[in-house]
Amino acid sequence: MHDDDPPFIPDARRSHDHDDHDHDDHDHHRHDGDVSHIEARVRALEEILTQKGYVDLAALDRLVETYERRIGPRNGAHVIARAWTDPDYCERLRTDATRAIAELGYSGRQGEHMIAVFNAPGIHNLVVCTLCSCYPWPVLGLPPVWYKSAPYRSRAVIDPRSVLAEFGFLPALDTQIRVWDSTAEIRYLVVPERPPATEGWSEDQLASLVTRNSMIGVSPALSPEAAS
Ligand code: FE
Repeated sequence: MHDDDPPFIPDARRSHDHDDHDHDDHDHHRHDGDVSHIEARVRALEEILTQKGYVDLAALDRLVETYERRIGPRNGAHVIARAWTDPDYCERLRTDATRAIAELGYSGRQGEHMIAVFNAPGIHNLVVCTLCSCYPWPVLGLPPVWYKSAPYRSRAVIDPRSVLAEFGFLPALDTQIRVWDSTAEIRYLVVPERPPATEGWSEDQLASLVTRNSMIGVSPALSPEAAS
């Protein structure tokens, strides 16, 4: 996976401050308070275990990195590559994403109600959770730090093009940017456009072009040259 992180990473450390938004329905996000509480406990535990020498922090980082960037997004990449190569599967993904994704063996917490949004000429989709960090775990793994950051959560809605530009992605000016706000109930998966010059490619080859960021919608899929 070739995902680059954007410049607003430093702000992500403040991502659990929820006072900077107002929203008329907090119920569907009630889980987030629990997550913060759990995270605080996990951090305290981590510190004690590290101090006592039971846990190697570098190993822990590698483990998180694996789940963030490799295992999770690979599942999503499999889904996208199948949709690119199998028109019937693509149609099932369009009409009932939860079921189509489960067909490939990916289901579970934070992926119970999936919707696939398809990029097309003139249409680009971008996913955010404006309140916290709702994210489709079964297909994308853990959310990247920037996804949870306050700047991303607000700017993705207010000025999506500037966010995309920070990822080095400049869609044509007449391309419509559709922004999808995830909730605890509904999670979105962006289906990027299949890169040109990939005719005859196998599903595995195609999956190698599908990055985590392209499935959030902050980047297109890799071109064959970029991937090699
Ligand atoms: Fe959320």
